[in-house]
Amino acid sequence: MAQFDPAAATQAYLAVLTPAQHAKAQAYTQGGHWLLLWGTLVAVAVAWLVLRSGVLVKVRDGIEKGAPKPVRVALAVLIVDAVLEMILSLPWSVYSDWWREKAYGLTSQPFGGWLGEQLLSAVIFIPITTLLMLGLYALMRRAPKTWWLWGSGVVAAFFVVAMILAPVFIMPLFNDYKPAPPGPVRDEVVAMAAKVGVPADKIFIYDGSKQSNRYTANVAGIGATARIAMSDVMFKKDADLAEVRGVVGHEMGHYVRGHIFIFAGMYAAMALVAFFLVDRLFAPVARLLGAKGVRGVADPAGFPVIGIMLAVLGLLATPLQVSITRIGESDADTFSLENFNEPDGLAKALVKTIEYRAATPSKLEEILFYDHPSVGGRVRKAMDWKAAQMQVDAVK
Ligand SMILES: [Zn+2]
Repeated sequence: MAQFDPAAATQAYLAVLTPAQHAKAQAYTQGGHWLLLWGTLVAVAVAWLVLRSGVLVKVRDGIEKGAPKPVRVALAVLIVDAVLEMILSLPWSVYSDWWREKAYGLTSQPFGGWLGEQLLSAVIFIPITTLLMLGLYALMRRAPKTWWLWGSGVVAAFFVVAMILAPVFIMPLFNDYKPAPPGPVRDEVVAMAAKVGVPADKIFIYDGSKQSNRYTANVAGIGATARIAMSDVMFKKDADLAEVRGVVGHEMGHYVRGHIFIFAGMYAAMALVAFFLVDRLFAPVARLLGAKGVRGVADPAGFPVIGIMLAVLGLLATPLQVSITRIGESDADTFSLENFNEPDGLAKALVKTIEYRAATPSKLEEILFYDHPSVGGRVRKAMDWKAAQMQVDAVK
């Protein structure tokens, strides 16, 4: 038998796309890096317009009428700001989230459907983020010197709760979740869950095929809400069981290895630095932006100043954030290979993602922008694993 060559096997997987398709994926991916910069500029411009309009100061003064009413002011100002910023940035969202995706053939969603999902997101996320900001403003009032320290803890707790609950309570608003039908796919997943200690009493199927033909899944929740959810693509007649095992094994890896807690620690650390800088630099930045009538960092009428600072700091922190995320993704691949040994199943699923994340970026591009390792690298790792397993088997 000929020697198995991991490099050649990787090339063969990447060759499922023609050179023209790879070039298109690269254009899409690298254009996406620029969108980070343009998106930040749009966010800054929109917040600045709201700030300079003076409307938030008017809302504040209208509610206060001489007597301080901090909670009511924060609530009203934050909601007015969120709605105004959403409307002002809508043209950009239409371009970057819908029109561009459509132009690259990555979505078939009609504009009306997209807009409906955007409005649904706004209805869900504006109250959630407002609640988070209300908490931060309360901290600023009670602990004006150390709010940034406690605030980072609040962000971490918020992140964990959101990550645990979102798939259970929010994702069902966008897709239809039903108990998975009995059959070989479900049986396989139940056996996999038993092997690595993932709760398997709730296994759901959702209509992921309306968004894409990829094998997608997630394992989320905690305690009574823990469940496995899989796209209906995996339950089609010709579904590839090896691919299902590779992908679901990866998702189980995120769950078993507790990645959300690592990510929460990362966001807490990033929030700590960002909030500290906001606390120290608020006054000069507010002056620079020409904020009028804003009393200080704890005044919700100055929220756009905080928004602008966080947008810029977020952009600067992108390489750090994507790199930590990327390490977690690599770890989930390792978990899948070690526990379920489906290098070809994993590789087959991975090459389906090349369209929107170019397969072979430069090392620098990967470090700066990729929140998943490149598919070229991931497939190669799976093929190296396969080669190592073949050697183990040969020795036996
Ligand atoms: Zn993952």
